[in-house]
Amino acid sequence: MRACDATHIAFDLDFTLSTYPLTTAQVIAEVFVRCGLDAKAFGSAEDLAPDYDRLWRKLEIGATSADELRRMIWTRLVHGRNLSTTLAAPIARAYGDVRRESGVRFVEGAPEALEALRRRGYRLGLLTNGLSEVQWDKIRVLDLPRRLDAIVVGGDIGCYKPDERAFAALLARLGARPAEVLFVGDSYDADVIGAHNVGMQTAWVSADGADRPGTVIPDYVLASAAEVVEILP
Ligand SMILES: [Mg+2]
Repeated sequence: MRACDATHIAFDLDFTLSTYPLTTAQVIAEVFVRCGLDAKAFGSAEDLAPDYDRLWRKLEIGATSADELRRMIWTRLVHGRNLSTTLAAPIARAYGDVRRESGVRFVEGAPEALEALRRRGYRLGLLTNGLSEVQWDKIRVLDLPRRLDAIVVGGDIGCYKPDERAFAALLARLGARPAEVLFVGDSYDADVIGAHNVGMQTAWVSADGADRPGTVIPDYVLASAAEVVEILP
C-alpha cells in the first residue's frame, strides 16, 4: 500500500471509531423481555432490527430528540404489524433505557491509533451524522474532545454527510484544505463519496470485506480504523 501524504486525519464516529456492546437485535430482544412482549406477534428481534435501523436513518434528520425519534419508529413498527399503537411509547422508553445502560465503546485499537497519530503530529478531526444529544453523549463518554482537534456533529449544523456543507464545516474547524485531509469512515455513501466529492483522500473501513457498492474508488480500504496508522508515515 502506498503511504498517505495527508497532514490531517478525520474520522466518522459510528462503526468507525465507536461501536455498541449490544447490536440493535440484542437491544430489541432485551426490550421484549422487559416489556413482556411476544416475539410471535412482532416477529423476531433479528427481523425487526433492519427495519428499526432503516427507520432511524430515514426519520432522524427531522427529529428533535432521541426519545421522540424512538417513539416515531416504534409507532410505525407496531402499526405495520397491526398491533395497538399504545404499545409504542413504553417500548420506545425501554429501548432507550437498554441502549443507555449498555453504552458505547471504542472499536478495538482506536484509542491507541488516535494517540499514535497525535504523537506523530497529525491534526485529528471528527465528522459525524446524527442527532446532537445522541452523538455528543457518545463523544463525551469516549473523551473525544481531549483526543481530537475538531468535532462536527451533523445535528448541530443542520446537514449530514455526504452533503458538501458538512465537510466544509469540518475543513473550517480543522483549518485545512481538502487535499491535506484523509477521511476515514465505514459508510461508502456518506463517508467515501462525500469526502471524495470535496477532494479529500479517502479510507473506507470495510470490516466485512464487502464489495465496493459504487464506482468511486477509495484511496485505501481498511479492515478497521486502527489500521490507519499503517498507511501513514
Ligand atoms: Mg459510520
